[in-house]
Amino acid sequence: MRIDRLPLRFALLAALTLALAGCGIRQLARAEALVPDHGGHAVRVQTIGNVALYDFMSVLPGGEGDRCLVAEASSNGITVRGCGNDAREMLPWLDASLPAIEAYLPEIHVSRLRVSLHRPGSRVLTRGWRTSALVNMMIEMSFRYAPGSDRHARYAVRAMAHELTHVAYKRRPAQDESEEYFGAIAESCVEYAVFGSTSGYAFEADVKGTISDGFDDAQRESATEAKRAYRSVIEFAGDDGTVRQPNGYFEAFCTATIGAPRPDRRTASQQFQ
Ligand SMILES: [Zn+2]
Repeated sequence: MRIDRLPLRFALLAALTLALAGCGIRQLARAEALVPDHGGHAVRVQTIGNVALYDFMSVLPGGEGDRCLVAEASSNGITVRGCGNDAREMLPWLDASLPAIEAYLPEIHVSRLRVSLHRPGSRVLTRGWRTSALVNMMIEMSFRYAPGSDRHARYAVRAMAHELTHVAYKRRPAQDESEEYFGAIAESCVEYAVFGSTSGYAFEADVKGTISDGFDDAQRESATEAKRAYRSVIEFAGDDGTVRQPNGYFEAFCTATIGAPRPDRRTASQQFQ
């Protein structure tokens, strides 16, 4: 996706994820005015064989930065910083996320993850190029977080799953489906794996907003794919609109939709037929 397809999507849908290919810090600042408070994220990635050049971007709109006592929590290559107890609250979710993401996306492995958490209303724009093997990625991302906020934690996990799907799919053959659809499906599959449930979104406006007549074709496609992914997920939900563990049908759907192609398994099963 390109930056030039973003503005209306963000303005009207409080949309999911920035895709800022080719953009600079100036475009990030422009995007800031259009993203919802819970933020927008993007990745720009180029691969040469197993090596990738990647740029994770986080946009959290707001005014001044946090004024708080910052504390750090870390484990297993993950370091989280945030106000008060925020990092300690978020760390277990991030800890659980990487294995869940990599189970679907074996093309990648995140060796080092640095996350900074910021309270609602504080302004953050972060980005930075890195080069590494895809199985030794070092990522820095910023997320919105409010103390005890389940939905902010879920949003962070979903955004990370979405962006890493874009990276992993650089190693996959081109598919008929939009990559945005896969990214949006990955959000819910990973949220389900980590939190034990998903409603197909963390913030309702991200999937239930109106698609404006003012959208151009690209914006309409992005918004449509996000909504389509939501509809796919919600088919597995109970009456309350939530998919809960255990749900073998949903897990099978996730594996079939975003899991890595498994030629070895196909070969083995064909041998038994
Ligand atoms: Zn995307």
